[in-house]
Amino acid sequence: MTIEKIFSKYKFPEELKNIFIQTGIHTLYPPQAQAIEAGALDGRNILLSVPTAAGKTLVAELCMLRSLLSAPGRCLYIVPLKALANEKYEDLKKKYSSVGIKVGVATGDTDLPNDILSGYHILIATAEKIDALLRTRAQWLLNRLNVVVLDEIHFLNDQERGPTLEILTARIKQLNPKVQFLALSATISNAPDIAAWLGAQLVESQWRPIPLREGIYWNEEILFNRGPSRLIQGTGPDLNKLADDTLRGKGQMLVFTNSRRSSEAASRLLCSTAGIFLSEDERRTLTRLAEILRGPESSMTRICRRLGDTVEHGVAFHHAGLKPEQRKLIEENFKNGLLKIICSTPTLAAGVNLPARRAVIRDVKRFEGGLGASFIPVSEYKQCAGRAGRPQYDEFGESVLIAKTPGEAKSLMERYINARPEPVISRLGSDSALRTHILASIAGDYVHDINDTFDFISHTFLAHQKRPLNLIEMIGHVFDFLQEEDFIEKQGFRFFATPFGQYTNRLYIDPASSIILRDGLHKIAKGKSFSNIGLLHLTCCCPDSPLLRNWKSQWEEIEAFAYNCQDEIILQEEDFPMLTDMGLHMAIMKTTMMLCRWIDEEREEKICDDFNIGPGDIYRHLEAVQWLLYAAITFAELFQYKKLTFLLSNLRNRVKYGIKEELISLSHLKGIGRVRARLLYENGYKHATDLKSASAEDLAKIDKINLPLARDIINQVSRP
Ligand code: ADP
Repeated sequence: MTIEKIFSKYKFPEELKNIFIQTGIHTLYPPQAQAIEAGALDGRNILLSVPTAAGKTLVAELCMLRSLLSAPGRCLYIVPLKALANEKYEDLKKKYSSVGIKVGVATGDTDLPNDILSGYHILIATAEKIDALLRTRAQWLLNRLNVVVLDEIHFLNDQERGPTLEILTARIKQLNPKVQFLALSATISNAPDIAAWLGAQLVESQWRPIPLREGIYWNEEILFNRGPSRLIQGTGPDLNKLADDTLRGKGQMLVFTNSRRSSEAASRLLCSTAGIFLSEDERRTLTRLAEILRGPESSMTRICRRLGDTVEHGVAFHHAGLKPEQRKLIEENFKNGLLKIICSTPTLAAGVNLPARRAVIRDVKRFEGGLGASFIPVSEYKQCAGRAGRPQYDEFGESVLIAKTPGEAKSLMERYINARPEPVISRLGSDSALRTHILASIAGDYVHDINDTFDFISHTFLAHQKRPLNLIEMIGHVFDFLQEEDFIEKQGFRFFATPFGQYTNRLYIDPASSIILRDGLHKIAKGKSFSNIGLLHLTCCCPDSPLLRNWKSQWEEIEAFAYNCQDEIILQEEDFPMLTDMGLHMAIMKTTMMLCRWIDEEREEKICDDFNIGPGDIYRHLEAVQWLLYAAITFAELFQYKKLTFLLSNLRNRVKYGIKEELISLSHLKGIGRVRARLLYENGYKHATDLKSASAEDLAKIDKINLPLARDIINQVSRP
C-alpha cells in the first residue's frame, strides 16, 4: 500500500505527502497496511501489537493527521515515560510544525498553563500528567478530543504506572465514548484481551523491518532459532569474544545485565576489546566526551570517573544512577556510532529507541529483595532482544543469551526463545492504587457513592479481566477507609471529598502518605519534640518516598545515627507499626541519613561514594522529598499550624539546594548553587542584601564566579 494511494483516498494535502516522501516513506510496512485495512483511518479503535520498529508511530501519526484534517479538535499521545514523551515531541514537532500543526508536550516537569496546553493540536503527555489534569476536571482536555494514542499499552502490567494508565483510559472511554483509541504495544500474549477491553480491532504481526535472529551462545558458537549458526572467535571471556565478533563486522552491541554494578563491571571488561576498533579521530572525540561525562575534577563522583574511564575506550554503562543529561549524551553518542557498546540494566530496553546489531542478554537471573535469584520474565527478555537490528545499518539483528553448558543452552531456548511473553494483567487491584484512584474519582466529582464507583470501575481492565476479586466488597472497604481517615464525608446518601481529601488528590500523593504527614503534624502540634531530622524521617516514612536499600553494609553507622536522633523522630513504632519491620526501618533511616548529609552541605560526590549511589539517585530522592514537604506545608496551612509552615518551607529550601540554614537567602539567586553560595558567605556576603553594596569586579575575585556571572548577580540584587 503506497503513501500516494492513502493520501489520495483520504484527501491529505500535498504538503503533508511531501513530509512523508522526504523522510523516505513511500510504501507502508505490512503491519501498517493491516492497520489501515482494519479501519485505523476510518475512526475505528485499533490495538496494534507488533515488534519494536515495525512502524507503530507512523500509524498513530496518520490517524491523528486524518482526524485533524476532518474536524477541528485535538489528539492526545500518551506515553509511559518522560524520556519517551520528549523523544516523540522532538520528532513530531520537527515533522509537522512547518504545516501549522501545533505539537506540545506535558510531562509534569515543565508545567505550562492549561490555556497553552489546550492550544496544541497534538499533545504528547505522560499518563500521570493526563491523570492529574482529569483529576482537576480539565474540561478542555475532553472537549473536541478526537484521537487518543496509548503508546506502549503493555505498561498496564507495570505495578507503579499501570493503574494510572488504566484509570485514565477508562475515564476517557466513559466521558467521551466517541474518541478513537489507538493502542500500540510490543508483542504480548493476551493482546485479544486488551483489544476486547478497548472495543478495538486487533492488528497483530511478527513482522520486523530488520529480521531478528534469536540465539544461544555456547562454546564459541551461537545457535539461532532460524538460519545457520555462527562461529565466534576471539580471545578472553565469552562477552569479549562476542564483542570482538560484533565490532569486527562493524556493528554495535548492547549488553543487558541484572544490576547496576554488573553493568559497570561488564563495561570495564569490554574496554580492552572495544579499544582495538577505534580510529585516532574517534579516540580524540571519546576523550572529550569522557571529560564532559566526568565533570570537573573537584566535584567528580566515583561513578562519573568510572563512566569516563570506560567511555574513553568506546564503552559506556547506562543505569538509573546516572544523571538524565549523562544518559542522554550516552544515547546520542551510541546513535551516531561513536560509542560501540553500552552495558545497561533492562530499563534501557523499555526507554528510548536505541537499537544495535547485537543485543546480548547476559543475565537471565536477578536478585529480588529477599527472594533470592529468580528468572527474569519472558517479556523482559523479548523487550531486550527486540533492540537488536538497526534500520538502515544492519541487514539483520541478533539477540544472544549465554549458556554455560549444553543443557543450559537447551533450557534457555525453551524458556525464552521459544516462549511467549507473560500475559499483561491489571495492577489496579492493589490497595494503594484503589484508594488513590477512588479518592480521585470522588474528589473530581466523577462518583459519589459505591454504586457509581462500581459502574466506573467496571470500565477498567481490572473488571474486564474478571480476576477472582470481589470488586464491590473491595470498593466498600476503600470507602470505609477513606471515610474513617477523613478524606471523604457523607452528606445525605452521597460522599464528597473533605478539604483534606481534596488536597491529597491535587497533591497527587498516596492517601497513606497524607495520613503519615497529617499524624506527624498533629503530634508536633501537641508538643512532640522534633528537629529537621524528624521531619525528614517523617517524609521518608511516606510510601511516595523512594528508599535507599542495601543498608546491611552500613548497619553500624545507621544504627548509631538512629540511636543519636531517637528523641527527634516524630513517628515512632506505636504510631506507625510498619516501622517494626527491620528492613523498612533501616531503609528509612538510611535515606534520612543521606538527606541530612545533603542539607549539611556534604559534597555530592562524597554522598554518592559513601552511600554507593549515583548522582541520578540523589536527585530522585530530593525531588520526592521536596514534594512531600510541599504536601506537609499544604496540610500545615490547612490545620493552621502557622509556625510549622515556616519551618517546613525553610527545610524545603535546604533540601532543594543542599544547604545549611544560613545560606537560604543567597541560594535564591539565579546561577548560584550550594557551592557558590557557600563561597559568597565565606567572603562576607551573608545575605542577598549584602551584595547590594558589592561591585561586579569584587565578586569576580571569588573562586568559581566569573565577571559575567558577577554582573548578573549585581543585576539581580539591584532589581526593586
Ligand atoms: P515503532 O513505533 O513500531 O517502534 P517507529 O514508528 O518508531 O516504530 O518506526 C521505526 C522507524 O521506521 C522510524 O525511523 C520510521 O521513520 C521508520 N518507518 C516507519 N514506517 C516506515 C515506512 N513505511 N517506510 C520506511 N520507514 C518507515
